[in-house]
Amino acid sequence: MRIPEETIDRIRQSADILEVINDFVSLKKRGSNYIACCPFHNEKTPSFNVNPTRQIYKCFGCGKAGDAIRFVMDIENIGYGEALRYLAKKYGVEIEEQEQTPEDLLRQNERESLLIVLNFAKTFFQETLLNSDDGKSIGLSYFRERGFTTPTIDAFDLGYSLDQWDGLLQEGLRRGHSREMMEKAGLILIKENDKVFDRFRGRVMFPIHNVSGRVIAFGARILKADKSQPKYLNSPETAVYHKSQVLYGIFQAKQSIRQEDVCYLTEGYTDVISLHQAGIKNVVASSGTSLTTEQIRLIARFTPNVTILYDGDAAGVKAALRGLDMVLEEGLNLRLLLLPDGEDPDSYVHKVGADAFKAYIKEQSQDFIDFKARRWLTEAGDGPLKRAEGISDVCASITRIPDPLKRQTLSQRVAQVFHVSEQSVISEINRLLRGQHDQRSKEADRQRERKKRQQTASSAQPGTPGPSLDEINALLNGLDIDLPTDMDIAEPAAAPTRPQHRQPAVRTALSYKEEECIRLLMNYGARELEPGITLCHYILEELNDIDF
Ligand SMILES: [Zn+2]
Repeated sequence: MRIPEETIDRIRQSADILEVINDFVSLKKRGSNYIACCPFHNEKTPSFNVNPTRQIYKCFGCGKAGDAIRFVMDIENIGYGEALRYLAKKYGVEIEEQEQTPEDLLRQNERESLLIVLNFAKTFFQETLLNSDDGKSIGLSYFRERGFTTPTIDAFDLGYSLDQWDGLLQEGLRRGHSREMMEKAGLILIKENDKVFDRFRGRVMFPIHNVSGRVIAFGARILKADKSQPKYLNSPETAVYHKSQVLYGIFQAKQSIRQEDVCYLTEGYTDVISLHQAGIKNVVASSGTSLTTEQIRLIARFTPNVTILYDGDAAGVKAALRGLDMVLEEGLNLRLLLLPDGEDPDSYVHKVGADAFKAYIKEQSQDFIDFKARRWLTEAGDGPLKRAEGISDVCASITRIPDPLKRQTLSQRVAQVFHVSEQSVISEINRLLRGQHDQRSKEADRQRERKKRQQTASSAQPGTPGPSLDEINALLNGLDIDLPTDMDIAEPAAAPTRPQHRQPAVRTALSYKEEECIRLLMNYGARELEPGITLCHYILEELNDIDF
């Protein structure tokens, strides 16, 4: 399917790179450019730069660079034509669609073919819901019972699959989709005896969208009482669907997550949909899997603040505790809210209404210290031994936080909550950090040796590439794993001195960083990180914000 040159030009002219990228990651203004943590590689300090004047982006960490079209191709993992189509849709540029020739079909990569067949299935399930007798009397009436309005049903592309063996398969074949693609998309099952049938039958359909709004999978709930069938059935993993990387509702929520600067995390499809309908739109669910690190990183593209809204029952608490450390590890700010026993977000928002629900979140959500502390103090009583266990448990979570400054602030809070001295909390955190550090120190020693050899080699040769921006940012902001972690929070002077567990002379984190900055400035100061910006310039500008 060739797109005429003038249409491509029109798309190029309408597409604004800031808008395009903002759909996938929140950009912050810095000088005349915009920055973000790179959506293509994992980092905690931003090295992804967007230049609105030149309409280009560049990541100084992983090297990805290009224009708006390139960005869409890379982030969606689609070809040039599909990226153009995506932008055309976003900017309302009409593309004169020509018939697909067999060569066109061959040229599409498999990913694109899967997205196309999944989109067909979505439309088919939607039409079945709205136009077929069973769709209306079973599917639609179920959604209505749940209180879903027509705009809500549209916003989430909800649908219905008929209780037939091969309704989707037959319609798909009729429309020219291959059996092979439908199987690869997880829509049909092929048994050994070559019997073929639809995977989803007699279920209400919840399409799962990726960040840009493409349908990549389905969740499906059965309505009739059939003990031999699971209540919920999800698409299998496919080339376009990796459930650990997907959050249900992210497409519908991302704008609002950015505006509210917080993301509510729930567990079910209907939680997301009900809250969305009630006007609380910054909500997603880790449906079909327990929370993963990839899902947390997806949230982090839009906000650093997460509030976990889980059921107040034992399973909900367990799930919340499991998610807690993972969220902290990614450097996000976390609050938790357990709903009253027997309620989930869906039922509770129906019961009390949107305003009361918002107020409830505001008043009842706790940071993780209060959350954990309250559990320990109420469950274990206030005996000294139990309290020590509780403190240790909270401190263990604090050690997950990458930012040493944040850890220090939080240790003050722990001291207040448990009524103990701050020094004892700091000692406990450092004890735990040392334990973790000892485990890593062997590997770190090896890495350090390797690095030293490389550095000696590179400073001897003029014209070597020098450090990456990522390394510089890590130096300026982050905590380098090579540092002895017990240096991060100063031990109280009164604490007994421990035998040094490592040979190098004692250096503080600060002196290490200062030395390293000076070394970089002397060796590479004049090197350009990007046209017009030397390493020297960059570091000095960064240091303006840091108490050096
Ligand atoms: Zn990158």
